[in-house]
Amino acid sequence: MTLKFTMSTTEKPLTPMLRQYHEIKKQYPGTLLFFRLGDFYELFFDDAIIASKEMEITLTARHKDSGSPVPMCGIPYHAAIGYIAKLVRKGFRIAICDQTEEASAQKKLVKREVVRVITPGTALESQLLESKHNNFFASICGAGEGMGFAVLDLSTGDFHTTEFKSEDAWQKVQEQLEVFSPKELIYPHSLEPLIKSYQTEATKTPLDDWLFGYEYSEGLLKNQLNVATLDGFGLKQKNYAVAASGAAIYYVNETQKGSAAHLSEINYFEPNEFLLLDSTTLTNLELIDTEGNKKGASLLSVLDNTNTGMGARLLRQWIVRPSVKLGEIETRLDAVGEFKLSNIKRDQIRQRLELLADVERLAGKITLNRINPREINSLRQTIEALPLLKNLLGNFQTSLLQTLHENFDELSDLGTLIKTAISDDPPAAANEPGIIRDGFSPELDELRNLARSGKSYIAAIEARERGRTGINSLKVKFNNVFGYFLEISHANRDKIPEDYERKQTLVNAERYTTPELKEYETKVLGAEARIIELEIELFKEIRIKLANEVRRLQGVAKTIALIDVTTSLAETAARKGYSRPVLHEGDEIEIKQGRHPIVESLGERFIPNDLNINNTTDRLLIITGPNMGGKSVYLKQTALICVMAQMGSFVPAASAKLALLDRIFTRVGAADNLARGRSTFMVEMTETANILNTATPRSLILLDEVGRGTATFDGLSIAWAIAEYLHDHAFHSAKTLFATHYHEMTELSKLCPGVKNYQVAVSESNGEIIFLRKVIEGTASKSYGIDVAKLAGLPKSVVERAREILTNLELNELDLTGKPKFAKHLRKPSAKINQLSFFEGAADSSENS
Ligand code: ATP
Repeated sequence: MTLKFTMSTTEKPLTPMLRQYHEIKKQYPGTLLFFRLGDFYELFFDDAIIASKEMEITLTARHKDSGSPVPMCGIPYHAAIGYIAKLVRKGFRIAICDQTEEASAQKKLVKREVVRVITPGTALESQLLESKHNNFFASICGAGEGMGFAVLDLSTGDFHTTEFKSEDAWQKVQEQLEVFSPKELIYPHSLEPLIKSYQTEATKTPLDDWLFGYEYSEGLLKNQLNVATLDGFGLKQKNYAVAASGAAIYYVNETQKGSAAHLSEINYFEPNEFLLLDSTTLTNLELIDTEGNKKGASLLSVLDNTNTGMGARLLRQWIVRPSVKLGEIETRLDAVGEFKLSNIKRDQIRQRLELLADVERLAGKITLNRINPREINSLRQTIEALPLLKNLLGNFQTSLLQTLHENFDELSDLGTLIKTAISDDPPAAANEPGIIRDGFSPELDELRNLARSGKSYIAAIEARERGRTGINSLKVKFNNVFGYFLEISHANRDKIPEDYERKQTLVNAERYTTPELKEYETKVLGAEARIIELEIELFKEIRIKLANEVRRLQGVAKTIALIDVTTSLAETAARKGYSRPVLHEGDEIEIKQGRHPIVESLGERFIPNDLNINNTTDRLLIITGPNMGGKSVYLKQTALICVMAQMGSFVPAASAKLALLDRIFTRVGAADNLARGRSTFMVEMTETANILNTATPRSLILLDEVGRGTATFDGLSIAWAIAEYLHDHAFHSAKTLFATHYHEMTELSKLCPGVKNYQVAVSESNGEIIFLRKVIEGTASKSYGIDVAKLAGLPKSVVERAREILTNLELNELDLTGKPKFAKHLRKPSAKINQLSFFEGAADSSENS
């Protein structure tokens, strides 16, 4: 959502405080300003009106009696994160404005500054992060034939960029947006019209155009990566990518107000380094839970047996960006295969993984100064679990696992540092006492002794004074306002010694102090204040020491992620009976007993099917069969098996020899896009045009009922022509699976040598249709559409009338060139409904043409 707030500035700021508010607010347009007032965050004016509604809290007003009340709402600062999370999840951006100096009697107005801006794409708060998902924001710039694209996950340090120099640059940017599913998009104001047309749940954050200027961006990026030239990152002459990436760094600096030293690498990629899956394909194949597929049944959910957030995030990346490099795929498959064979070791490793904290995200928090002492201790526990994990890894032979084992950094020095410095049960906040372990700092130990002995001295005063005064109810007490005091009930007033000084009178008692008590109070309170100061200082030193080693922490996180993904894939393969695919540079795909991984996991018995396809003799398979027969499932399982193999997973098949693919295209179902102003048929044709224009001999194309979105003869003619085109153009001799209800298309096999006909078998028993789900060679004899409609419960009279119409229509076959033979009598004269029949219209149009 794009936010545009107006500030209600019709009235002049009433007080210096509100003037300060306005000055700060001006600098953070498009945000809700959380303005710290004592123990509360207050929102004013339009922010208050919006936020009170969204957070469901009461809207009040300041200066109610002045004639120009200021709308206001507030939340206690200690409960703020819950409210902030709620707003950020709804797409709002929040500027946190804190008091940056202590309030005092002399100061009328304390200094306030925005210390952080929390946005959907830059949040680090655990309430706003999903452990299994990256939290990317995307930066987009350029226009027309040149666009830059960068995505950055601040919580993990993942930073990727690319650029496009072609007419369809914007379409390619959109494809990458679907792959990375960022939570927020930043872009120059001038791109507003383009971005507006892009439907997404991500928050849209326009920024000033100059922030995307090449020189400015280059400077920021070099500075961030600490290099004199960006060439080493593959960014030579990649001006668009540099501009997008530099702006991303600007946005990090602007929102975090601190150093993000864990962003020390950027990965420039060319999209064709991965198996390309456009947004339609991502949704159609149900690879992940996308905006178009939120049912929760996705390939990711079937495959995901990971035990850490790091592994889960990497698995998702592998699924949406499968590899095209044979060597890389084989290396992954080797590791999965070895883990699959060693059930016991795999179990042991998986159990160890369960104990590990999210080192990748902790590393980010360390450099950004968002880590708390308890989280540092969770890092220590993880480090303590590493040697055993490394040991277990030593039992494996495959190259990936051996390399991981050899390079395994146990981080023992960092573990020792944390162990000696941080106490076992530290507070959650970094400004409370008790963080640092006794024995770590002599100065701290001394102060703690002083505070402890002072306290026990004060405690001893109570017994001594009871004896001296004879007042048994005399108590030494403490509170934050008056410090230490002696409390004596009024009944004992006459026994009070001369040297007691009155401090305060209560209803039933009097409070006193003595010079001695004052002296010890000063000692104890002074020591305690210094203890807190010193603990904060020491904690900071430790944090900085860890921050200096952030690359090592990130290295360990990568290792853990790889072990987690490969053991998870092995676990899934073992549980589901997957086999290792054989990938090759040739053009044949040969699958024996293939299954659909998602459908089979839904529980019903799945009938496996074979497939043979290549770029020559069997390059276009026309698949006919009844509705509900299993055509779509067959098409999709083929693509899913290829995706799984190229990501490095075993596959649901008895065996699979698979040509390495560069792209998978799908034109499946009636995914209409009315919101973008295009009709169902228009979308279908646009997607098909895209396929015909971009497929290569290494592509796999799934066409499911192309042409059905328009009149029957138009649809058939289009489908026929598309199939011919795909078959005839050598450059486009991609492998195509074409499921259709136009049985006439099976005639193509007589004209085109690369076309083969397959059908999904059914049998009939007592007039009822039985789905066999078996894909066999040949052509379906009939459609069974009416039988399936009957199964679905259409009224009997409709079914009967449909059969009558069908009989008439069947007189009109197409000839071998694809032209429909003309036929009359499409409408039964006895039809009761007195209006123009659809079929009559169709016949008329064909007559005219
Ligand atoms: P339509 O032409 O109406 O789109 P279709 O032929 O494409 O139908 P599918 O959607 O592929 O039919 O399959 C229908 C249902 O049949 C699936 O949802 C699935 O539950 C089941 N099914 C398909 N193939 C198999 C199979 N091989 N084994 C078991 N069940 C299957």
